[in-house]
Amino acid sequence: MIMNDNSSNHSIAQSVNSPQSEEPEPADAAQPPHNETQNFQQLENSIFYLEAPTESSIISNFKRAQKLNEAVKPSVNSLNFLKKYYSKAAKKEWNNWQWQLKNSITKLNELKRILNLTKDEEIAFEKNDKLPIRITPYYASLIDAKNINDPLRKCMVPVADEFIKSVGEENDPLSEDKQSPVKGLVHRYPDRVLFLSTGFCFANCRYCTRSRIVGHQGAYNLNSRHWDKMIEYIEQNKNIRDVLISGGDPLTLQNEHLEYLISRLRNIKHIEIIRIGTKAPVVLPQRVTQSLAKMLKRYHPVWMNIHFIHPNEITPEVIQACEMLADAGIPLGSQTVLLKGVNDSVDTLKRLYHQLVKMRIRPYYLYQCDPISGSKHFRTSVDKGLEIMKGLRGYTTGFAVPQYVIDAPNGGGKTPILPDYYQGRDADGNVILKNFEGKFYKYPDSI
Ligand code: SF4
Repeated sequence: MIMNDNSSNHSIAQSVNSPQSEEPEPADAAQPPHNETQNFQQLENSIFYLEAPTESSIISNFKRAQKLNEAVKPSVNSLNFLKKYYSKAAKKEWNNWQWQLKNSITKLNELKRILNLTKDEEIAFEKNDKLPIRITPYYASLIDAKNINDPLRKCMVPVADEFIKSVGEENDPLSEDKQSPVKGLVHRYPDRVLFLSTGFCFANCRYCTRSRIVGHQGAYNLNSRHWDKMIEYIEQNKNIRDVLISGGDPLTLQNEHLEYLISRLRNIKHIEIIRIGTKAPVVLPQRVTQSLAKMLKRYHPVWMNIHFIHPNEITPEVIQACEMLADAGIPLGSQTVLLKGVNDSVDTLKRLYHQLVKMRIRPYYLYQCDPISGSKHFRTSVDKGLEIMKGLRGYTTGFAVPQYVIDAPNGGGKTPILPDYYQGRDADGNVILKNFEGKFYKYPDSI
């Protein structure tokens, strides 16, 4: 089902980059964005969704997107799934991210049509009143319908364990709300901020640190007026040089809205880099189009961190989507949450990281799972994480090894956790090192 073959990747890249597959150039594509006042008055005047899109907005965007060429080409797995479960839909609809959004699985009967659910899963689905269930048809096509231990299924389908709150678990374990000077903006580190652009995601991960926000209307219903206040705060704080646009998933925004946000940030003189945190290229690679990549390219330096969990997520579509982004000069990194029974083995993560570096994605963070309420069944011990790091360092390419971090509870920030390579000093001041094989070495540190 999953394509891992390198030579096939090459032919995909060629077809994606061929002129025939490119979308029409947006009207303003040739204009330089920097130091230029763009006319976003129309957008500023419109009340656009930053939370759940409405039915009418999906339909109108869907019609517009249908006029564009296909983004990525569907894999054999996608086509088989389309034929089996959405036989009335055409290939071009499957490849349209608005169609995927419109047909996302949110109801029990829709999920039961595709997966053989256990009694526990069915009960948990009906009882769930926390993080809403949402899976794109594309991502559902990657799940083995009959395997209750399928790693991607565990990330998407609720189970009864979610309702058990264990010691130390919190709804906002990182105290983001307390470190938020303006609604939607988290200012934890001196020179950078987290910009929560939207509370909406294409697919909702059951272990989500921001499950208090994702998919919920109400308290976290961010809109363009909040953006104004967040941007104003950034403008006034000249020590901020780096903005991470996250959410929710910023790629759920229309290109125009995302561009509006990025261009406003880019116009702030002290902002050096803009980063985007997203899972869209993984759960909905159809969202990545040539016009998106071209738009982002106009605002460099723009970096992107993509949320990958498991090698089963690497498909021909995902490879094409990431190639488009990398070819637009966007440095790509990955972040992965360490999850019990999903990816907590050296072999699984090594396979994932090897795939990522082939796709020009640098494994960046391996996160210890945050103690979000109802997450105990997902969390491994820290010793397990250290064991995995020992199994990676020295046994694979250095840049295929991410940093293992714990996001310290109560807003302590990301803290690296390292196996014991540094063993202290001997009587002469030499540094004692333990290498990846457990052998000891001295480094003369007499300077
Ligand atoms: S993509 Fe990220 S923000 Fe969205 S549900 Fe998953 S973990 Fe949460």
